[in-house]
Formats: sequence, structure tokens, C-alpha cells
Amino acid sequence: MTSVVTTSAPAACWACRAALGGSPLLCAACGKVQPAAGIDYFQVFGSVVGFERRLTIDTAALEREFHRLSRRLHPDRFARATAQEQEWSLAATALLNDAYRTLRELVQRTEYLLKLEGFEIGEEFAGKNKTAKRQPPADLLEEVFELNMQLEEMRMNRKMGESDPALHSELTAVSLRFESELAKLDNNLVEKGAAWDAGAAAGDSAGRATAAKDMAAQLDRRRYLRNLVRDVNEALSTDKES
Ligand SMILES: [Zn+2]
Repeated sequence: MTSVVTTSAPAACWACRAALGGSPLLCAACGKVQPAAGIDYFQVFGSVVGFERRLTIDTAALEREFHRLSRRLHPDRFARATAQEQEWSLAATALLNDAYRTLRELVQRTEYLLKLEGFEIGEEFAGKNKTAKRQPPADLLEEVFELNMQLEEMRMNRKMGESDPALHSELTAVSLRFESELAKLDNNLVEKGAAWDAGAAAGDSAGRATAAKDMAAQLDRRRYLRNLVRDVNEALSTDKES
């Protein structure tokens, strides 16, 4: 752990000094568990996602590797090992679980990658900086303004114990339209992820940077739309018509 790069894992097993080729959590040569500190999620699954942080991944292979490592790192296997190794196996198992949960989902995988790349992204950042993140994307300003008026109208109706069927079906259509845009955004995310991977393969760091910026923008828009859909669906579910 003497490397200056914070995310780089030790390259050799602490016990037998063999090079750690597969997962840095486990020595393939002697089977000893390795310290988990400083290892990121992509490195945990390096043999599946590549050590250069690929976004296009084979999720079936990811799952197989997860189960393989779960068995090999299970604390029961280290019941007779040193206290230090027992502690490492607990830490490695926790890291493995977090890594698997994050990497198997496209959006979470992309968010995690962008955080590693220094982008301020994700719910916790949105929470810290609420006013800035709640600004609608420029092209949606007008639509969001009108939508908020409609939602307010629906709330008023509810208070009065009334319902406006036309308003209800209008908002249902809005919800469906946003849902379909969300699906499109996910497709775009897959494409940008492929562009990121291609940049890595070609050693094109500018191409990677562009792809990363695009993905960060897509994720912001996605989060904004997701919240809108949630608000609209909540209003619809409590409306009398439903
Ligand atoms: Zn070893």
C-alpha cells in the first residue's frame, strides 16, 4: 500500500508475493485473503470489467465472478486463520457485496465511475446543493412551469373533493412521455458508455473526457426527470379518478 495513487491496489500477495492477477482481494496462487483498503469496485471485478474501468460489461460473467469470490472470501473459510485474516475476509466480503450491487446496474455503475473520475454526481451531492440541482434543464423550463400549475390544480381539486378527468388524463400522458424519455436516456447512457470504453481501448483520453461529461449531463437530466415522474405519479395516485 505504498503507491501514491489512492485507488491502486497492491500488486503482489502479502503472503506468497505472487502477482495478484484476478481479483486483488484474493491471491490465486495461495488462496490468502488480501487487505481491502484502497481497492475500488472496478478493481474488485477487474477480471470481468477490465482494470481500465470499462462500462460495457457482461453481467452474467459479473454474477459468476461474484459467486466465485463470495465462496472464496467467506469468513467461514478463515475461521482458523489469524485474527488479521479474519478481519480482512469480513472487509473483503463487505466490499465485494457493495461492488456487485453497484456495478450490476447501468446507472449506478456509471455514477460510480464518474465519481471516481472526479465528477460531483449522485443523490448525496444533489442533497448538498439542492437549489442548483433542482433547476430544470433549460429546454424543459416552460413545460415544468406548466406542469407545476397542473399539479397545483390537482391538489386544489383534491382538497375540494373534486376531480377533473381531463386534467387527470393530461397528466397521465405527461407521465408516460417522461417515462419514455427516461428509457431513451438509458439507451444514450449505454452508447456513451461504449464511447468511454472505446476511448480507453484507443488510449484516447480526450474522447474519454467527452464521454464522461456527456454521461454526467445525462445523469443529471435523468435524476431531474425521475423526480418529476415521481411527483406526477404521486399526484395521480391520490387523485379521485384513479
Ligand atoms: Zn499468495
